Amino acid sequence: RKRLPKAARKGYAPIRQDYEDFYTRRMFYRIHDCWNRPICSAPDAWVDVMERTPVDGQKPLKLTGATRRCLNLGSYNYLGFAAADEYCTPRVLATMRELGWSMCSSRIDAGTTPVHLELESLVAEFVGKQAALTFGMGFATNSIVIPAIVGRGCLILSDALNHASIVAGARGSGAKVKVFAHNDADHLEAVLRASIAEGQLRTRRPWRKVLVVVEGIYSMEGEIVDLAAIVAVAKKYKAYLYLDEAHSIGALGTGGRGVCEACGVDPADIDVMMGTFTKSFGSCGGYIAADRGVIDYLRRVAPGHHYATSMAPPAAQQIVSALRLIRGEDGSDRGARKIAALHANSNWFRRRLVEIGCNVLGDWNSPVMPVMLFQPGKIAAASRLCWERGVALVVVGFPATPLMTARARVCISAAHTREDLEHALQVLDEVSELALLKYHPRKALHL
Ligand code: PMP
Repeated sequence: RKRLPKAARKGYAPIRQDYEDFYTRRMFYRIHDCWNRPICSAPDAWVDVMERTPVDGQKPLKLTGATRRCLNLGSYNYLGFAAADEYCTPRVLATMRELGWSMCSSRIDAGTTPVHLELESLVAEFVGKQAALTFGMGFATNSIVIPAIVGRGCLILSDALNHASIVAGARGSGAKVKVFAHNDADHLEAVLRASIAEGQLRTRRPWRKVLVVVEGIYSMEGEIVDLAAIVAVAKKYKAYLYLDEAHSIGALGTGGRGVCEACGVDPADIDVMMGTFTKSFGSCGGYIAADRGVIDYLRRVAPGHHYATSMAPPAAQQIVSALRLIRGEDGSDRGARKIAALHANSNWFRRRLVEIGCNVLGDWNSPVMPVMLFQPGKIAAASRLCWERGVALVVVGFPATPLMTARARVCISAAHTREDLEHALQVLDEVSELALLKYHPRKALHL
């Protein structure tokens, strides 16, 4: 058995975070270590910023015992479908009256309704694949499907910043996992080449399967995957490609068809397309879209299809209605206008944040905008100062990010008005000064 690094054995770990640790037990020592550091462990500071409870739909938030109306910049409600909608809501209510809230049965037993089948054929067509399968939870989609398609003797190459659900799936699969530098196709190629040689040496034959796993938009970075370059490497080495579009489906591309549409990549080049319905579609659950053979195989073997209750029919109906609206099947261009509004709002806000001097990560058209705080000690202050001024945003720190790259994360929606966003900017400008979030390269030089 491999021994723990000396630092971890002594009860503390170095600050540098090794991403491969996410896939091993060593990560637990790091988490333990972080929560025991005096800077992070003041319990009041964490209680103050975590698990705040929205009380009334998407806008007002109830926070640490007091209620205050806040502008919600923390929700993934990118297209505004999570609030009542004149097209979706009546259809959702009709489905609830007809089929009830839950089927109380798994898909393979009595949990499949015509709405589930309609949803799966719509999703497959929307993302450009032959077939799709849906699950009741986005997180579980990754953590169930990855172990169903790779196992012992296989190799997973995972982007350093992949989501925890991918980490859980990869760990549960029993495959060998290697991490490549975030969004770096050259490093992927280097790791792939070295691993293929190693695989041949180890077993005198190559890995059973090699699976490269990336995301469309990285949720902590707001960055869009360099898909064309990753596809080229995967093709060159005959690796399978798994793309998690949780944040990009509905949000990227003029038709909302995700990162393939935005980057001009043929969906046929992606072997397994995964996505969630909890962001752009304002519902819940996740999907896998792939060739019919893969989906039929998953239908037979994926435990979440057999042993978990199917997605609530009204939730499925919400997605069907949102998809139909996005595709213009309601006879209006309201869906297309929502996507255009999301891009316009995101780009306007990103430009203005940079102009006021914030250090912002991410790409144009991405609705996710991390504003860097760097030091974990600023997390609670930034969150509280914004909240006091009527703006609720998400703050993120270790272990979701490396220790010294804490950030406040803004998520933009098509439902935000320009006045909402101007108000938010004003608050962020003020709070940036107070909480020293601003990046002053010239001041730093003079020091
Ligand atoms: N994949 C990614 C990239 C995510 O960011 C998330 C959650 N935000 C999930 C999967 C899990 O999705 P859900 O919240 O729908 O369970």
